[in-house]
Amino acid sequence: MSGGGEDGNINAVSEHLRSPAEAWQTLMAGNARFVGGASNHPNQDAARRASLLSNQHPFVMIFGCSDSRLAAEIIFDLGLGDAFVVRTAGHVVDNTALGSLEYGVEYLDVPLIVVLGHDSCGAVTATKGAVDTGKMPAGFVRDLVERITPSVLASLRKDKTSTVNDMVEEHVKQTAARLVENSPIIASAVARQRTAVVGLTYRLTDGTADLVYSNGHIGA
Ligand SMILES: [Zn+2]
Repeated sequence: MSGGGEDGNINAVSEHLRSPAEAWQTLMAGNARFVGGASNHPNQDAARRASLLSNQHPFVMIFGCSDSRLAAEIIFDLGLGDAFVVRTAGHVVDNTALGSLEYGVEYLDVPLIVVLGHDSCGAVTATKGAVDTGKMPAGFVRDLVERITPSVLASLRKDKTSTVNDMVEEHVKQTAARLVENSPIIASAVARQRTAVVGLTYRLTDGTADLVYSNGHIGA
């Protein structure tokens, strides 16, 4: 990883131009291109690669599920240097995930943090199964299930007939809220309007990403 901040005025200008709202609009425009089958595949050539040798200024951090169908740069039509990506199954937060996101906020000044869940999520489905049956999965998958369980229980408390997709939405909201609650660095950046945190649920059928949570000024 390469840090930002050594290019003086250029950095100040780009920070000024890249508000959370601008980052949000850029991200959603990319998703709209992908949904419509009109992806530009921007910033994926040798010139872009060369331009990023000494620095990076990604405009978005995507903290999403590891699911292979949720490839971050593809579904938002992005390229090299655009997105700082952290992914775990079920977008489960642990200290290293939080540390990665804090790095992006503190050292790269990224103006938008996206928590990205999706329908039919396997990790949430496994957690629902564990809650239903009382049987925990083996190995470290158990750690994932334990950390997703509060979201599944909260969803069931709101509606006993909650589906996996309802639980995913609740889990996205809780994950996004936890980033701000657990990280003073992220909370401070949100309070200073340097970054915003949003939660999206992605639809496998048509590729759209719906806003279900926001904290900060994205103008949506
Ligand atoms: Zn998933």
